[in-house]
Amino acid sequence: MTPDRLDRFARHIVLPEVGAMGQAKLAQSHVVLIGMGGIGSPALQYLAGAGIGRLTLVDDDVVEASNLQRQTVYAQADIGKAKAEAAAAWVQAFDPALEVSAHVLRIKRDNAASLIAGADVVLDGCDNFATRLAVSDACVKAGVPLTSAALGRFQGQVANFAGHREDHACYRCFVGDAFDAEDCDTCADLGVLGAMVGMVGAFGAMAAMRVLLEGVSTLGDPQWGQLHVLDGLKPSLRTMRIARDPECRGCSSRLSGSAGAHP
Ligand SMILES: [Zn+2]
Repeated sequence: MTPDRLDRFARHIVLPEVGAMGQAKLAQSHVVLIGMGGIGSPALQYLAGAGIGRLTLVDDDVVEASNLQRQTVYAQADIGKAKAEAAAAWVQAFDPALEVSAHVLRIKRDNAASLIAGADVVLDGCDNFATRLAVSDACVKAGVPLTSAALGRFQGQVANFAGHREDHACYRCFVGDAFDAEDCDTCADLGVLGAMVGMVGAFGAMAAMRVLLEGVSTLGDPQWGQLHVLDGLKPSLRTMRIARDPECRGCSSRLSGSAGAHP
């Protein structure tokens, strides 16, 4: 690392849980962010702040005035712009040393594999189950870990999944198959508090860093398959273990050598 990079990340490097090795690993890492909304925005800001060397941003939406209350990466002048491109422009201004690419599209079964290829972790902060399941299945097939961060009103849910590994649950083991066709757009109907979704986004960024640092430094304990449930009102946090579903369509066939279980 050059002297200016050492200076930039000095507060990470002095942390024993990250250290110089950890910071070097973060700089070499590639994170794909799905959904550049209320979770993806603060997650991106902390991941970029952490010096993640390569960031891929996927979102098909455009910035609206009603997003600015929580989607912290955007400013007034971004209204009407594609979120992925506006967020990528923020990264380029924030730290030109980072490599960032924007994909203005909705991730689906037919394009997921190419979007996540080569990623060290995928952070999914999107707003619907159908996309989340497609992303999870693609991660299992590609052998890429998944950080899932989600919000329902004042309840946040964050977990790391290694569904590609033996005896590990995937996201589909957790939610099942009922939501493949469902496109729940809840923010507009139910409302969302900016600071609450910000907590979940920052939590997700830290969970993704734990994946990246596995085997490198002590922060690198991904706590695979443990769902952290954050109650923002109390506030309180509880953690539950997600059991692997032996019949899961997403991950059950990976041990038989098949390329994937989805028909
Ligand atoms: Zn599964």
